[in-house]
Amino acid sequence: MIKDKVIVITGASSGIGEASAKLLAANGARVVLGARRENRLQALVSTIEAAGGQAAYRVTDVTKATDVQALVDLAKTKFGGIDVIFNNAGIMPTSPISALHTQEWNDMIDINLKGVLNGVAAVMPDFTKQKHGQIITTSSVAGIKSFTGAGVYGATKFAVRNLMEVIRMESAEEGTNIRTASLYPAAINTELLNTITDKAAKDGMEQFYAQVGITPDAVARVVNFAVDQPEDVNVNEFTIYPTKQE
Ligand code: NDP
Repeated sequence: MIKDKVIVITGASSGIGEASAKLLAANGARVVLGARRENRLQALVSTIEAAGGQAAYRVTDVTKATDVQALVDLAKTKFGGIDVIFNNAGIMPTSPISALHTQEWNDMIDINLKGVLNGVAAVMPDFTKQKHGQIITTSSVAGIKSFTGAGVYGATKFAVRNLMEVIRMESAEEGTNIRTASLYPAAINTELLNTITDKAAKDGMEQFYAQVGITPDAVARVVNFAVDQPEDVNVNEFTIYPTKQE
């Protein structure tokens, strides 16, 4: 059931996070939105409230554990608890490894991997205590197979896939009923390609996405489905491909 669930979403200011926030709120969830761009978060909260939904936001940089903890704390003070965290914030500055964009490698590790760990750490004490909770993370098709140009991006996405599966297994062992899900979207038309600085990589991706990409509400519907399952059912891995993508 989605109604009245308190759901923290990172990377909520655009793309998949924004689409998921709107759909979950429309179905009665209380959503708590984090990202760095305040104007976008403010506008999204207004849109959700205007449609009769409940939402709050906090400017959040997922690389800072204190920021992510404060976002989860906001969920608790504003809505009385936390049921789900959707670790969705991410960047995708793809490039060949030989180009040695080492700062971007570090940024991807900090946002796509450590950012997810910060989300896990922020909810784990409450989830363990209440013996209930769900952790959904946006990995990628680059988290289940390898793509040239996505050496480090894929490494972060493979990593979070492993993390979700191990949390699921440990929760079963510990009897804490924590559910986890990994999403493996393929080409989804969002602002993600703006994070690519390598010109050749960006041109190639833009062309590809223009040909095959689908809208982010495709992923939002999957998030909605995962949250909607009964508490003893863990649907935990989803690939989401455009029909036009091989
Ligand atoms: P967008 O660029 O539209 O969204 C990315 C979101 O992440 C934004 O809200 C951005 O907000 C946020 N973000 C980036 N860095 C940080 C940070 N340091 N702290 C907090 N928030 C941050 O792209 P998508 O919606 O496509 O991306 C969402 C997720 O989906 C990512 O993890 C991406 O890797 C994954 N994905 C996307 C695919 C696609 O084809 N689009 C395919 C497979 C996976 P802000 O800049 O305001 O902080």
